[in-house]
Amino acid sequence: MSIAEIFNSMSYGPAPESETAARNWLAAHKGKFGLFIDGGWTKPRSNSWFESQNPARGEKLADIAAANDKDVGAAVAAARAAQKDWLAVGGHGRARHLYGLARTLQRNARLLAVLEALDNGKPLRETRDIDIPLVARHFYHHAGWAQLQEQEFAGFEPMGVIGQIIPWNFPLLMLAWKIAPAIAGGNTVVLKPAEYTSLTALCFAEICKDAGLPPGVVNIITGDGTTGDALVRHPDVDKIAFTGSTEVGRHIRKVTAGSGKHLTLELGGKSPFIVFDDADLDSAVEGVVDAIWFNQGEVCCAGSRLLVQEGIFDKLISKLRARMENLRLGDPLDKSIDMGAIVAPVQLAAIKNLVKKGTDEGAEIWQPSWAVPKEGCFYPPTLFTNVAPAATIAQEEIFGPVIVAMTFRTPDEAIRIANNTRYGLAASVWSENINLALDVAPKLDCGVVWINSTNLFDAACGFGGNRESGYGREGGHEGMLEVIKPKFLAKLPDYQTAAKAPGKRDATPSPLVSLDRTAKLYIGGKQARPDSGYSLPVFSAKDVKIGEVGDGNRKDIRNAVEAAGKAVGWTTTSSHARAQVLYYIAENLDARKDEFAKRLVETTGVTSKKALAEVDASIRRLFSYGAWADKYESRVHSPPMRGVTLAMKEAIGTLGIICPDENPLLSLISLAAPALAMGNRIVLVASETHPLSATDFYQVLETSDVPGGVFNIITGNRDLLARTLAEHDDVKSVWYFGPKSGSELVEAASAGNMKRTWVNNGKARNWFDMEQGEGREFLRHSTQIKNIWIPYGD
Ligand code: NDP
Repeated sequence: MSIAEIFNSMSYGPAPESETAARNWLAAHKGKFGLFIDGGWTKPRSNSWFESQNPARGEKLADIAAANDKDVGAAVAAARAAQKDWLAVGGHGRARHLYGLARTLQRNARLLAVLEALDNGKPLRETRDIDIPLVARHFYHHAGWAQLQEQEFAGFEPMGVIGQIIPWNFPLLMLAWKIAPAIAGGNTVVLKPAEYTSLTALCFAEICKDAGLPPGVVNIITGDGTTGDALVRHPDVDKIAFTGSTEVGRHIRKVTAGSGKHLTLELGGKSPFIVFDDADLDSAVEGVVDAIWFNQGEVCCAGSRLLVQEGIFDKLISKLRARMENLRLGDPLDKSIDMGAIVAPVQLAAIKNLVKKGTDEGAEIWQPSWAVPKEGCFYPPTLFTNVAPAATIAQEEIFGPVIVAMTFRTPDEAIRIANNTRYGLAASVWSENINLALDVAPKLDCGVVWINSTNLFDAACGFGGNRESGYGREGGHEGMLEVIKPKFLAKLPDYQTAAKAPGKRDATPSPLVSLDRTAKLYIGGKQARPDSGYSLPVFSAKDVKIGEVGDGNRKDIRNAVEAAGKAVGWTTTSSHARAQVLYYIAENLDARKDEFAKRLVETTGVTSKKALAEVDASIRRLFSYGAWADKYESRVHSPPMRGVTLAMKEAIGTLGIICPDENPLLSLISLAAPALAMGNRIVLVASETHPLSATDFYQVLETSDVPGGVFNIITGNRDLLARTLAEHDDVKSVWYFGPKSGSELVEAASAGNMKRTWVNNGKARNWFDMEQGEGREFLRHSTQIKNIWIPYGD
């Protein structure tokens, strides 16, 4: 071919990368890898091994140890033994170690890039230019957090030993996302890579050794799901950080319920890629390439649903098809290809299966005319049109290079279709009208939004999802808060189970007490009779029946959640307006101070002085959250690009709050006020033993301009009501402060729609204490962070 012809066709020749260094590394280990425990290689006690394959060529790369329970136990024991000393190294000491790891990673960058491409099948162009540089960036960034830890996270301590389970789609990058923050924060880790892609994690183990990381700080155990399961169940693990499928994430939630283990889950997605009619279409087409054909579409946040404004649909689709015709697919080590191999035959079969379902359901498939290599696990870029929003391929995560295209007419419709999924990981919005894009971004129910861009990641910007995409964030300030915990938590006393719950006593009334005191429920801004038609007796501290409260049931919770769902105005109004209401509640409580104090004396048996102190503290707390309402603000990140990332603190939605028995007024206010200040609507279950402070509170709410449905109060059986809230799909988060068994109940029941939970694990707080009862911890649980990426410039 002449040079002129080459210029005309713009076709590339092959540009293969040498794999010699990677082959030498494999050979140096004789193609067989043990487990990396306590700073050295150990033979698996299981004496069992599995093969790692190169999916592009179907050849064996190495034998990998399959860890069993005993191996997991040894790794956890090594991590536990190392943790104290690792903490004692101090922030600066850990910063130096993380910096050392970053440097060593960079020195070995090409080896890691080639190894990753061989093992996973992803193009070297991506491992070399995206995965590995981001891995190093993660260690540099978190070296910084280690350095600043004592100032920035004063009052916090590490979780302890963290078990980490990662998938195969970004093997080394997911390792970095997990390990860098965890060890920066003073934890030690046991990490299990995915069965298909263990090699770069094992190479990283060697890098830890070379870089002089103390033994036991990082332990790498290989194996399949049973190894992961053993790690999840190990009693000496303090936290599980998991990235993978929603199905396994749900299983882990159930298995760890009530164990006290902290949990972060980064799960699947079905992210929308929204193109408005004023978008730069050529840029949008390149965006689609990066959204769904980057990493063969094996990306949790892949833009797999293309939503296009009706008027430009045909034009965009024809441009897209022309671009697809020019994509190159082939040997991952060829530097001029766009797409490599699918990770394994099982995944290839899963993709083919869903594609067949798409065609069976009537969608129209389009693939480029060029042939896919016959050998190896390859699948062509695929575009579906004529897809109904409810079709299987528009709802299920395909986790392959397959995009489904649909149309919309108006921004509202785009938002509706975008949110019509059980997931909520990411979204991409394309428009030249920044006003429109910034109006749409907050309305998308997901954790990350890219404006005129897609699949951008940085260590400083948190990443994570909502709904069935999981919870918790990785990266940035918010990611650090997932690996450390307030120091006071370890010292809390056990929650004392109250003996005087309504209904547990002889309900014979004292002849001295008027029985005209049956408090109703408070739903949608009105007092409502319980659906059951029953009430429960309430006793004084002296064991005398002093009244009755409604015996709330599932239906009452449903009504309250529905009322809360309608009160969206509370979320969209200004924080200034919410602050005014909180101050007004405080003012009205102040006006009835004596009455509330009297009630506390009567129900809890405290002295008048203590009761007045509780009412005073409640008033102060309301003022605090009136103050916080417009001061717990979002951050702006400056990732290494021309642009900014807004880390928006958003309300979560409808919260279920189960109150403890201690300090029934103060604990209620301490939990309700931050949630309200941040724009959530709440369904609050009053203390089971002392519900009258809550029912008295209706009158304060009624006189304080609290819109109906924002603050709902239900009385009755705590566990029944807690379970109903935890199972309800429209409740986005449940906070539980009660006996230990309730924490387990709530965590297990929350697995249905993977809602967030905040539970007390059977511990009691001192609600008067400023650290335990007020502040950022409460505000953090009242918000979720959405990172909105806004590149700028032409
Ligand atoms: P899994 O969720 O099964 O695997 C993720 C990790 O969890 C792997 O290390 C896996 O081990 C491990 N694991 C599996 N079962 C258990 C268990 N019971 N307890 C603890 N750990 C366990 O995802 P797959 O790799 O099987 O992929 C299946 C689907 O999941 C994909 O088709 C895709 O839809 C989705 N997925 C989503 C990802 C995301 O980033 N959100 C990433 C990967 C997959 P092992 O690999 O050895 O089985």
